[in-house]
Amino acid sequence: MHNKYKLIYEGKAKKVFNYGDVDKVRIEFKDDATAFNALKKEKFEGKGKLNCLISARIFEILIKNNIPTHFIELANENTMIAKKIKVIPLEIVLRNTAYGSLCKQTTIKPGTFLSKPLIDIYLKNDELNDPLLTKDRIELMNILSSDDLDYIINLTLKINVILKSFFKNIQLQLVDFKLEFGYDFRNNILLGDEISPDNCRLWDLNQKNDTIVSLDKDRFRNDLGGLIEAYSEIHKRINDFLEPS
Ligand code: UDP
Repeated sequence: MHNKYKLIYEGKAKKVFNYGDVDKVRIEFKDDATAFNALKKEKFEGKGKLNCLISARIFEILIKNNIPTHFIELANENTMIAKKIKVIPLEIVLRNTAYGSLCKQTTIKPGTFLSKPLIDIYLKNDELNDPLLTKDRIELMNILSSDDLDYIINLTLKINVILKSFFKNIQLQLVDFKLEFGYDFRNNILLGDEISPDNCRLWDLNQKNDTIVSLDKDRFRNDLGGLIEAYSEIHKRINDFLEPS
């Protein structure tokens, strides 16, 4: 397709283009899925569109709850217009239930409910394999001030309260999620990136027994199959809840 917008960044799951206004960007969601630092790759037709539509809905909910985000509006089904931000190279992971890397690196059993949310901060750096950081290491690297770090941590906790209750309404358990933040041209901190089954673990609560049914990227990471079906189900539940027929 002829593209009149200039590509400024291409990541694993998204392309970012300049937009007319200097303070805005177009973010196009791709169908590519990657895991284990892109050692595992696959294309899923329709994933980009589903993640874009799901993210847009979630951003709208967060904005209504006074969370500052980069989201402005949808341009089409797989493209959103967002405020341009300088991304802070940190991945802020919040965990409500133990799973994934937490269980690989500690003796905590998968599925353990955490009595208070755990925040793990990783360096966004593929070459170093996104290492887990400490507060002191973050300070040492001068990535951001300790006030800004506290602000981001508090915002993440607030976002968790909003998202946990929203997902519970649609019979989904919010196990964990990863957020990214950035500075806009006025130096305000905004939530960026996306909020979708690519960066949230969501378990189906419509199960009679205790079996874990993942409706997220674990379907790809763990070769469970049915990724598009799972993402479509999330999209459908969100839409049915927000616009009941
Ligand atoms: N996550 C992510 N990008 C990453 C690593 C993790 O979006 O590069 C998300 C992941 O989808 C999950 C949460 O962060 O919702 C916690 O992931 P974890 O640290 O358990 O890593 P994983 O098991 O994916 O290796």
